[in-house]
Amino acid sequence: MAQASTTKQQDLFEFSAEEEPPGHPATEVEEPPSLRLLRNREKFFGSVPDESWNDWKWQFRNRITSIEELSKLIFLSIHDQVSLRLVTEKFPISITPYYFCLINHDNSNDPVRRQAMPVYEEIALSGILSEDPLEEERDSVVPGMVHRYPDRVLMVVTDICPMFCRHCTRKREWRRGRWVRPPHEIDRMIDYIRNDPKIRDVIISGGDPLTLSTRHLEDILKKIRTIPHVEIIRIGSRVPVVMPQRIDDELCDMLSRYGPIWLNTHFNHANELTDEAKTACDKILRRGIPVNNQSVLLAGVNDSVEGQLQLCHGLLRAKIRPYYLFQADEVEGTEHLRTTVEKGLRIIEGMRGHTSGLAVPTYVIDLPGGGGKVPLQASYLVSRADGQLIFRNYLGKTYSYHNPRPAAASAGRSGRRKTNDQQMALELVAAK
Ligand SMILES: *Cc1c(COP(=O)(O)O)cnc(C)c1O
Repeated sequence: MAQASTTKQQDLFEFSAEEEPPGHPATEVEEPPSLRLLRNREKFFGSVPDESWNDWKWQFRNRITSIEELSKLIFLSIHDQVSLRLVTEKFPISITPYYFCLINHDNSNDPVRRQAMPVYEEIALSGILSEDPLEEERDSVVPGMVHRYPDRVLMVVTDICPMFCRHCTRKREWRRGRWVRPPHEIDRMIDYIRNDPKIRDVIISGGDPLTLSTRHLEDILKKIRTIPHVEIIRIGSRVPVVMPQRIDDELCDMLSRYGPIWLNTHFNHANELTDEAKTACDKILRRGIPVNNQSVLLAGVNDSVEGQLQLCHGLLRAKIRPYYLFQADEVEGTEHLRTTVEKGLRIIEGMRGHTSGLAVPTYVIDLPGGGGKVPLQASYLVSRADGQLIFRNYLGKTYSYHNPRPAAASAGRSGRRKTNDQQMALELVAAK
């Protein structure tokens, strides 16, 4: 202690970084993500100057896109090299240097690694699942646009992503080469939206729309904003997580001119919440763009109550709202990352009531065949008799609640009341 008071801030930082406190085995001490980033950058990209490292175009150009490049950075046995090359023939690899540095390379089950690094299971288990389970292609009204719900549409403006997430729902797109939707196709989508006054919410997705140049993205936003019935624009992007350097002032200034815009991003693990990623989100937030998070429930990444709490508490500290937790889609090449719905339900149950309601995302399953998203939650309604509803709370204690009779029903419309009873009975059956 006495020594610390005479030590400069910098030394203290290095001291706490290098030295394990006595009695704690190294494996139990989780390295803060920003520190891991710093160390890995030094180790793998030590000669890269800040100017390049902080330039998103450098990050994009220097993605790791082959097993050869990967094996120059980390040790891969000949056997691994051969099998991973087979995997990447079907499902290519792409990792930004930044994201690569968030991986704990000493841990083969590292949660960040599992999202980025190809594994043999992707093709070994292949053929079980489908390429496009959500039938987005069938639901396309004009090329690149999915109109599934009455008041909102999804525009797929590019298939380019800085990183190929191993759990990607649009893995099928990776082999088609890289494309950006040309202006005449954007115009067809814009015409479609213009001709349907019910559309009040336009979601710009991909690929990653923030890989477009700021000017190209501005062209799209500008066109959407010529349609008076479009109220909000949403941008779905993993760029704040995998290439936060992209979130520069020029982009943020541009976006702030086309609001209200909502940004949905995709953090899956607390180790992705580096200072860089949080700063990127903060920049967006300060331009009046709320940031929400859509994560995917992934085996060995975030499929525990503790993992989810760490993630969601970290998100709230960064002022990002946990919006959805997706049950992983039935996409070919992702089976090894999927979990059961029962597990997902238990995780959400372990969060609700135990922590801030704001930290609990809505757990949803996007139904195969284009059925859309449905929320999943354990039932807290235990039973019902004579207008008494019995609930259990988050601790498992039961409480009763007196349900008022619907005014219309008590005024003699017994047929209607019966329907309510039947409805309730159905719900109870469904809950069990
Ligand atoms: C997810 C999705 C939306 C948006 O759904 P919200 O529940 O409003 O976030 C819209 N269209 C399609 C096709 C989608 O998959």
